Parts: sequence; structure tokens; C-alpha cells
Amino acid sequence: MRAFIAYNVGTHQVTVVCDGVATVNLTDNYAAGASKDDINKVFAEHHLPTDKVTHTFNPVVINTGPKLVVIDTGLGPDQFTQSKGKVGQFHNNLAAASIDRAAVDTVIIISHFHGDHINGLLAAENKPAFPNAEIVVPAVEWKFWMDDGEMSKGMGNPILEGNFKNIRRVFDALGRKVTQYEAGKEVAPGITSVASPGHTPGHNSFIVASGAEKVLVQVDITAGAAFLFVKHPEWNIASDVDKPLAQETRRKLYDMAIAEKMPIQAFHAAFPGLVRVEKEKDGSGYRWIPSIWNASL
Ligand SMILES: [Zn+2]
Repeated sequence: MRAFIAYNVGTHQVTVVCDGVATVNLTDNYAAGASKDDINKVFAEHHLPTDKVTHTFNPVVINTGPKLVVIDTGLGPDQFTQSKGKVGQFHNNLAAASIDRAAVDTVIIISHFHGDHINGLLAAENKPAFPNAEIVVPAVEWKFWMDDGEMSKGMGNPILEGNFKNIRRVFDALGRKVTQYEAGKEVAPGITSVASPGHTPGHNSFIVASGAEKVLVQVDITAGAAFLFVKHPEWNIASDVDKPLAQETRRKLYDMAIAEKMPIQAFHAAFPGLVRVEKEKDGSGYRWIPSIWNASL
């Protein structure tokens, strides 16, 4: 399967390069604040199977002209093998989209350090997948996850322990050669980071702007089966590190996108994940409206 799609934001070209889709069993502790029955009820309302949950992964590549910018890298080659090709497709789909991983003008911006966003920094046998790219990471995220004291506090915590170990595996293989960025800064031409903490301490979203057009690359302000947490922002996926802060952040960013009439590119929405967000008329949640695909974009 080849899954990529391109659209323009002013003179920037955004290519959504899918990393794959996986359906797994719905676990009892999938979300905090919601029982399995609560979640199954929403799935049934959306004509989805119950007791199963489907996850989509949508990294993006932005051609700014002088620089090719990659935001996040998917689950990587190990997961590609383990899932029999269902996920970890990012490198293959980049090739299908004629995007060269060895290009020297590539900047990889990482939003946060969960495995579905960083594992694709490595190719097979833990070799750098983008040997000539500059890898740019959030300073707050680096400080938290690379801190040995935080790591020892996180040992035994089912959400944190695996992440601490995986993050060291990935960045140690890269010789910890990264550039750190602060939130609120232009990290590449026309791409500004927006602090959006909660899902992880240093999580960042991005506003991609060119001319009069802009799009909010939200990343994981809603994650997993993300539409659940759009509809119910008061629920949290288990991997949200600071759950109240994650709720506050997603409301803040969605209210901003609504006020500014800004489309959203969502990492965990159904491919290609270009949506608009609206407030639900009945209740405190939101809903996504998928954009209409247009081949001439
Ligand atoms: Zn994610």
C-alpha cells in the first residue's frame, strides 16, 4: 500500500505520509474517565466495531522551498516487522512519495518522545534513518526524559518505564546529536512551535503558515483513537502523562483553532487527518469535520 497525499498551505507543500493503521483489542484501562462501556457506546454511534480500537499514524513532510521539514517519524522498522507491515510504513511511504531520506537539507522536528513519533528516526539495526538531517527536539521534553532522576522515579510505572528506555535506545543510537528548541519559536521557515503540554511534559504542536494560509499541526493533543478525546475532552488516553493539563491544553488549542478558523492536521485522525474542529452543540466536547479531498490541490 502507498499512502501519502499532498496539499498546499500558501507556498508550502504539506505531504501527509502515513505510517499505517493498526486495530487492537480495547483494554479496560484504555482511557481514564471512561469505562469500556462508555467507549464502546461512542464506537457504536460511529458505526465502528466494539471491543476493538483502531489507531492511525500520520507524520507530515513540509516542503518550505529551502528546507524539507519532517514532523515526527512513525513507529519504525521493528514495529513494521512485528506488525507484518501494518505500521512502521513511514520510510516506505516516503520513498513512494519520492522523498529522499538521505537529502542534506532535511530538518526533522520531533513533537514529543513517544515511540510512534521517534522510532522512525532509526532504520534497521538502529542505524540513523536520516543520516544527513538535523534533528530538532523540544528542550522541555529532552530535559524530562533524559534526566536520570526522572527515569529512576518512573521505573515500575507501566506508562513511563518503557518510554524512558525506548527514548534512550533511540537517541543513544544517534549519539544524542540533536538541536533543542523552545516553544513559541519559529523552528523552520513558516513553522512555529506551540507549547501543548500534558500528553507529555514537553509536547509541542506547530502552526504552519505561508501567506494568508495556516494549519495547526496538532500532533497528540488528542491521541490514540483521537476522535474519542475530541468528543470527550474530559477523558484521557492512558499515555497522557499529566491528565488535567492534557485536558486544558486540548480545549485551549481547539478554541484557538475555532476562533482563528484554522484547519487542523491531526497525527491520530483517520488518514489523511486534515480536519476542522467545531464545538458540539450539545455538551462540552468538540467534533472533527474531515476536509474534502481535492486532487488538484
Ligand atoms: Zn502519538
